[in-house]
Amino acid sequence: MRNRRAALAAIAGAVSLALFLTACGQDSEGGSKEDKGSAKGGTIGIAMPTKSSERWIADGNNVKKDLESKGYKTKLVYGEDDPDQQVSQIENLITQGVKALIVAAIDNKSLNNVLQQAKDAGIPVIAYDRLILGTPDVDYYASFDNEKVGRLQATYIVDKLGLESGKGPFNIELFAGSNDDNNTKYFFNGAMSVLKPYIDSKKLVVRSGQTELTQVTTLRWDGATAQRRMDDILTKSYKSARVDAVLSPYDGISIGVLSALKSDGYGSGDKPLPVLTGQDAELASVKSIIAGEQTQTVYKDTRELAKVASNMVDAVLNGKKPEVNDTKTYDNGSKVVPSYLLQPVSVDKTNYEKVLVEGGYYTADQLK
Ligand code: BGC
Repeated sequence: MRNRRAALAAIAGAVSLALFLTACGQDSEGGSKEDKGSAKGGTIGIAMPTKSSERWIADGNNVKKDLESKGYKTKLVYGEDDPDQQVSQIENLITQGVKALIVAAIDNKSLNNVLQQAKDAGIPVIAYDRLILGTPDVDYYASFDNEKVGRLQATYIVDKLGLESGKGPFNIELFAGSNDDNNTKYFFNGAMSVLKPYIDSKKLVVRSGQTELTQVTTLRWDGATAQRRMDDILTKSYKSARVDAVLSPYDGISIGVLSALKSDGYGSGDKPLPVLTGQDAELASVKSIIAGEQTQTVYKDTRELAKVASNMVDAVLNGKKPEVNDTKTYDNGSKVVPSYLLQPVSVDKTNYEKVLVEGGYYTADQLK
């Protein structure tokens, strides 16, 4: 009898404990209910770097749309290229109880503390397009083959100048992206792997002498900064010579470089515009390519990147392993971050219709 009563009491205790835990949003195995695949309906925080470039606006909208179509709510914030602002935005997202974070960093090293807070709160983090460095608290990385972006730009220059068939020497100037963006060195190193042999053999001459990454970066990818540097180079190194090619890593920088070139008389008379690369297929640059000014850009389909990142979040929150296709390249100094890398595509006047218009990225009307 005693034993029976004790057994009943134990069962009653277990039942009320289970009820209590359920009321607290816990299951009897100790995890929160929402951890067990029911994060649908939860909110995902999306932190993007800036609205000053079209691509990030498209990225933000695409990620939002994809996550919402999977049943999540979203909070999308833009850090206006200010690293401190991005840190406090992410802190707010954590406080608001987001289930996961997708972050395109402004400064790749400024997020360690805030990501530790995310980790402590059990929030998985996907680095979006730009790898976050020096922290174990980044779970996956979604991006493009960034080194290939640089190789595509440089190969375009080599082909256009006819360097392979022995033409030259030609004058070239080099621009790189922001020094706090991890992609910058991948773009630059990829490009230099193609250009360096020609620089070494003097078939390509950098009259400014600025060939090291530290000499050619452009803080926050700012077009006006690039324009000033190009002005300066033209004044100091091209009094009696013409620049034949400019390696530019990003369309906003290309537009700045183009302004400097035009103010110096390029594009008219006996001063043709140099071969000028870019990246992102931004509207102004595609129009400039059609008008015969900027020469090339590297197109990265942000719709695809958004899908990859949203799928990663959905998989992680459902206890599954996200699909990755690279587990070697992206060491962030703390760990090799499993990555999914998409393929960039070189676009110029000859293929923009096929790639961008037929591919549905722009309508023909937008490009008029
Ligand atoms: C992105 C590029 C972009 C650049 C400037 C990089 O991190 O990969 O696509 O052009 O940032 O926004």
